[in-house]
Amino acid sequence: MTGPVIATAALTKRYGELRAVDGVDLDVRAGDVYGFLGANGSGKTTTVRMLLGLVLPTSGTAEVLGRPMPAGRREVLPRVGALVEGPGAYPHLSGRTNLALLDASGADRMSRRGRRTRITEVLAEVGLDPADSRPVRAYSLGMRQRLGLAAALMRRPSLLVLDEPTNGLDPQGIAEIRELLLRLNAGGTTIFLSSHLLAEIQQMCTRVGVLDRGRLVLQEQLEVLLRPTGLVAVRTPDLARCRDLLGGMVAAVEDDRLLVRAAEPARLNAYLVGEGIAVTELAPYRRDLEQLVLEAAGPGAHR
Ligand code: ATP
Repeated sequence: MTGPVIATAALTKRYGELRAVDGVDLDVRAGDVYGFLGANGSGKTTTVRMLLGLVLPTSGTAEVLGRPMPAGRREVLPRVGALVEGPGAYPHLSGRTNLALLDASGADRMSRRGRRTRITEVLAEVGLDPADSRPVRAYSLGMRQRLGLAAALMRRPSLLVLDEPTNGLDPQGIAEIRELLLRLNAGGTTIFLSSHLLAEIQQMCTRVGVLDRGRLVLQEQLEVLLRPTGLVAVRTPDLARCRDLLGGMVAAVEDDRLLVRAAEPARLNAYLVGEGIAVTELAPYRRDLEQLVLEAAGPGAHR
C-alpha cells in the first residue's frame, strides 16, 4: 500500500489530570520496522491500545492501514497481527489448540486443513515444536511470548504491532525473534514494535519514535539519526599532548578520547603518528541511539 500505515494526529489520552499520551503525531510507513521507545510509564502501551481500538482517545485521531480507528476496526484488525501486554492463552491447553481456538473465532475462517497447516507453519516459524502437546502452563515465559507471536502471525498480517516482543527471552531467543521479524519485514510486513531495549531497536529498526512522559520527542529514520557527525574519535594515552597539538580542532574530551573535527580520519591519523602521538584507536564518530534518546527525552527520563 502507499501512504502511511499508521498516522496519528495530536493523539491524546488523559486519565484525570495525567496526560498518558499527549499530542502524538505518529508517522509509520509501509515497509518500516518502527521502534517505539520510551521509559516505563511514558505512554507506549496506551498509544498501542489506541491504535488497536482498545482504548478511546480523549482527543486527536488515529488511522491504521488508511482507516480511522476505532471506527474502521472491523476492516483493519483482520489485517493487523498484535501482541500487546503479554500473550493471553488458555493455560491447560496446548499451544496448537490455543491457536486453533483463536483462529476459529476469527472472521475469515480457513478450512480445517488449511488452519492445521498454517498452525504448524507459524509454530515452526517462531521456534516452537509443532508436535509439542504440553499445556501452555508448562511453557517458559519465552515460549509464551513465541506463542503470542505465532497467534499474531496466523493471518499473514500486513502490519504487526508488538508491545515488547522479546520480553522474557534470553539472548539467543532475542536474536531468533529479531531474525524472524526481519524476514517478515523483507517479505513486505510493516512492523511497529515497542521496546525498552535500545540496542535491539538500533539493530533492527529503520525508523524510531521516542516517547517521554506522553510526548513524542523524537521521530526519525534511524540512518539519519546515526549518520556521521563529521567528528573523529581519537583514543590515546598521550591525551594532553594530543589536545595541545590539535588545539581548536578538538570539539570535546570524553574520558580517554578526544572528539576531533576532521574531514579525513586517515590524514589525521598520519599527522598524529608523525608527531609521535601513540594512537590506540581512531574512527569516525557516530552517536549511538542511547545518547540520542537521552538528549531528546531529557535527563532521568530513560532508565
Ligand atoms: P511500560 O513500559 O511500563 O509498559 P508504557 O510506556 O507502556 O509503560 P503506559 O502503560 O501507556 O506506559 O502508561 C502511561 C501512563 O498512564 C502511566 O503513568 C500509567 O500509570 C497511566 N495509565 C495507564 N493506563 C491507565 C488507566 N487505565 N488509568 C489510569 N492511569 C493509567
